Amino acid sequence: MTQTFDVFIAGAGTAGIAAAGFAARRGAKVLLVDGAERIGGTLFISGGNMSAGGTRLQRQRGINDSAEDHFQDIMRISKNTADPAIARLAVAHAADTIHWLLDIGLELLPDMPVITYGHEPYSVPRTYWGPELGVSILKTLSPWLQQSIASGAVDLRLRTKLVGLRQDRERNVVGAVIKGPDGVHRDVTASNYVLATGGYTANTHLYPMLNHGHPLYALGYDHSQGEGIVLGVGAGGYVRGGEMFLPTFGGVRDPDRPGYYKGGCA
Ligand SMILES: Cc1cc2nc3c(=O)[nH]c(=O)nc-3n(C[C@H](O)[C@H](O)[C@H](O)COP(=O)(O)OP(=O)(O)OC[C@H]3O[C@@H](n4cnc5c(N)ncnc54)[C@H](O)[C@@H]3O)c2cc1C
Repeated sequence: MTQTFDVFIAGAGTAGIAAAGFAARRGAKVLLVDGAERIGGTLFISGGNMSAGGTRLQRQRGINDSAEDHFQDIMRISKNTADPAIARLAVAHAADTIHWLLDIGLELLPDMPVITYGHEPYSVPRTYWGPELGVSILKTLSPWLQQSIASGAVDLRLRTKLVGLRQDRERNVVGAVIKGPDGVHRDVTASNYVLATGGYTANTHLYPMLNHGHPLYALGYDHSQGEGIVLGVGAGGYVRGGEMFLPTFGGVRDPDRPGYYKGGCA
């Protein structure tokens, strides 16, 4: 039997959790599936560093900053290669995102914000993270999502993968096929379909195909297999930005895991 929702979301990482929680709070009935046994995705290994200009934390410390200064710094550091439309969108919402996370309980290290040196440094302290890095963010988002699960607005299914998209003659996506832990394929329909299955840095075959032949030596999350990208491209979408490939982190190849490296440094 086909189940119907307002919003279907594949992937319960940073993007999928936020999409599900906000859609639910705006009245939608949401199905959120994740192939892993727990939510969080790449947040388990992420540094959890977030940058934002014009926050109340900066004001409290007398740091003069704004979304516009943040944007100008991004263009300077990227030597004008950043997509200005995307950069403007990101900086415009960055301070509000930090404030929202703080309001729902995010704990930050006491000396935040700081200047970091993982990339060419910003001109002012503008970067924030918690004591458990990406996990600090997850520990904030989990109870926030749980409220929508408890209210029945979000149906969360773990160990459940998106395995196919159904399309009509005009190639509109009209259904999703999911596979649960019992191995059974089920049809789902929704008014909106969100692919939030993350990246592909655990897929040694897909990685060189999308990065001009560069081989994969990654520190990615095991579930970052690019499955949503493959399905999205198959449905008529496209991937862009491969020409911007820029390897910046280094480490030592892991002899036990081909395609992975151990540790890392900037
Ligand atoms: C080592 C490392 C450090 C990083 N540090 C930072 C940092 O300091 N600051 C920063 O801003 N960014 C950082 N990043 C990047 C950042 O963590 C990611 O960009 C972000 O977490 C991606 O979120 P996402 O929701 O798009 O994808 P993910 O978090 O990868 O979530 C995707 C989810 O989809 C699920 N999934 C995959 N395929 C399927 C399928 N077919 N069906 C159902 N579910 C599926 C996965 O299990 C996963 O839970 C770092 C990344 C790495 C690897």
